[in-house]
Amino acid sequence: MISDVVAEVETQSGGRGSIVAAVKHRTDEELSWALENGIVHLGENRVQEHKNRTLLPTQAVWHFIGRIQTNKAKLIAQGFSWVHSLFRLKEAAALVKSEPPYPYTLIEVNLGESSKGGLSPEELPAFVDSVRDQYPELPLKGLMAMPPPTKNPETNRASFAHLRQLGDALFDAPVLSMGTSQDWQIALQEGSTFVRLGTALFGDRNG
Ligand SMILES: *Cc1c(COP(=O)(O)O)cnc(C)c1O
Repeated sequence: MISDVVAEVETQSGGRGSIVAAVKHRTDEELSWALENGIVHLGENRVQEHKNRTLLPTQAVWHFIGRIQTNKAKLIAQGFSWVHSLFRLKEAAALVKSEPPYPYTLIEVNLGESSKGGLSPEELPAFVDSVRDQYPELPLKGLMAMPPPTKNPETNRASFAHLRQLGDALFDAPVLSMGTSQDWQIALQEGSTFVRLGTALFGDRNG
């Protein structure tokens, strides 16, 4: 039950963690069901899927958790309160091209997961400096990571701890978007503030 997961996240995080419901390929009914059961944050991977939705509940806070295409950045900046996946300067430039307010932004870090996007821990400090310097109007809030699929969630604990360390070094009270259905309990133990959950809420994907 969604409300059970909401309650568990609340308890396990001591109130510091929230769920971002990953709604890719989910229907209006599934979104409504989530919102009725205490979900506030909804995460979208694709701008087009977001535009095609008939239900954009005003009480929901929308997060963009997919790849940022610079030609869609204006739509992202206008349609989403949060962006989790910044890792190129040209994306930052594109996000601040439209009118403010600009979305709260997290930088995606690649902690060794092979083909995924994100910056290496080594590249991260200089990137944060550049964004703060060149695009001070973009509100940088913290970091996001997407560790690889695993059968044993304990294997991702070190990655989550590492992300937290990196966040603490660069931000006051960093927002940390880490943990998915496979490993959210571990992520919360390591200080996650947003766990991004799809299948743990909705079951296996429709498409
Ligand atoms: C789909 C998705 C999730 C959720 O994955 P589940 O395994 O279904 O919980 C989290 N983060 C991102 C970026 C996603 O695309």
